[in-house]
Amino acid sequence: MSLLSLARLRPPRAKRYAFHYEHVLGTSLELQFVSSRADAAASAESRVLSELDRLAEILSGYSATSELMRWQAARGEATRVSRELAEVLEACEQWRVRTGGAFNPAAVSLVELLRAVDSQHDDVLHARTREIDQPHWRVDRHAGVAQRLTTLAISLDALAKGWIVDRLALLARAVEGVTQVLVNIGGDIRHLGERPVIVRVTDPRAPADNAAPIAEVKLCGEALATSGGYHRGFLMDGRYVSHIIDPRSGRPADGVISASVIAPDCATADALSTTFSVMRPAESVALADSITGVGCLLVERDGTITTNAAWQSRAAH
Ligand code: AMP
Ligand code: MG
Repeated sequence: MSLLSLARLRPPRAKRYAFHYEHVLGTSLELQFVSSRADAAASAESRVLSELDRLAEILSGYSATSELMRWQAARGEATRVSRELAEVLEACEQWRVRTGGAFNPAAVSLVELLRAVDSQHDDVLHARTREIDQPHWRVDRHAGVAQRLTTLAISLDALAKGWIVDRLALLARAVEGVTQVLVNIGGDIRHLGERPVIVRVTDPRAPADNAAPIAEVKLCGEALATSGGYHRGFLMDGRYVSHIIDPRSGRPADGVISASVIAPDCATADALSTTFSVMRPAESVALADSITGVGCLLVERDGTITTNAAWQSRAAH
């Protein structure tokens, strides 16, 4: 066999392809694929972008025409819903139960009260915390319908972004010739592939985006999500407060300023990072330790940092 034909038999070298977009679900989108074929990477990119548009039209809490918003408007009746919306609604309700109500899609209904009510009106907030402590919908997957059980304002945002990230990553990985995938939407990250990647976690106390990261972790087929009130929030009594609300006290979560979670999938990481922004660190570590493959890094207002063993085992340094 000549040297030339040997070279032809050698598989082409795999390359890394990276794509970046702004204004995706209110944040940025980063895609990284490893493939030995440029056409496979391009096909993964275009499939991801069109699936993203389709899922946003189902789950967006901002577009008045999304399926979620139209479903919310049909109060009281069991309404036909897509498989995707049914799945996300079910997952949110499961996390509400599993977190003892720290995760609650109706937590947003407290925001309008907090904006309007000053701190003397604790009884109004307490009444609302009791009202939101119940299931907000019933899903019948078999019949393909979902029914609202309350009329409170709700948001699926605490889980939906991570759920979308998982779907996009699996779709890209299914493209023939793509061997490694990383999808990152505003810090909600999913990796798929056999070779680990190292990702950085931004320091919530750092003034600039390019400051030293608070941690670097190794992910292999796993997800990472970070929640915190440090860059999104609202004004209450002239103070800027977190957009994450503790459904149990009715107050903005202010003990933990940033919660990062590693989990086998990004929907779980997303739901838990919001939850751990609400819970006390000891409660969060107990819940994280009870779920296989869940690591957490929690930063409190006073600078105290807490991690569990699963997080430490993935630390890159
Ligand atoms: P994330 O960025 O994933 O932490 O999601 C935060 C969003 O979830 C907020 O902007 C609210 O829409 C909603 N939210 C706030 N507090 C809670 C909570 N305790 N449980 C579930 N969703 C919440
Ligand atoms: Mg979340």
